[in-house]
Amino acid sequence: MSPVAATDSFGAKALMLWRGAMGRCPNCGEGQVLHRYLKIVPNCSACGEPLGHLPADDMPPWLTILIVGHILFPNVWYFERAYNVPVWMEMVLWPTLGLVLTLLLLPRCKGFVVALLWMLRQKG
Ligand SMILES: [Zn+2]
Repeated sequence: MSPVAATDSFGAKALMLWRGAMGRCPNCGEGQVLHRYLKIVPNCSACGEPLGHLPADDMPPWLTILIVGHILFPNVWYFERAYNVPVWMEMVLWPTLGLVLTLLLLPRCKGFVVALLWMLRQKG
């Protein structure tokens, strides 16, 4: 992939955000945004774009909670009414599913937020 030339088109912005969500540099799409699960790399290993100064702060966990909550709540509500599931099974299933979804989505959300901040040219 190549660096995004025109950053003002909708397609270019969507591509930058997608690259971030996939854990790739929003500028070139080659280097990693994160290392050691959630640490932001100081610079892209492929193009050298500085990324470490971008302050993702609390938005990635907030975004993760928003998504996981909207996935879990309707399913808990539906299964509670549609099936006679034993309580012990629900007490194992839903927290486990919530934990797995959170661990899978948190780095994606952080990459997305870093790409968003990079796109908006925020300075740390
Ligand atoms: Zn890069």
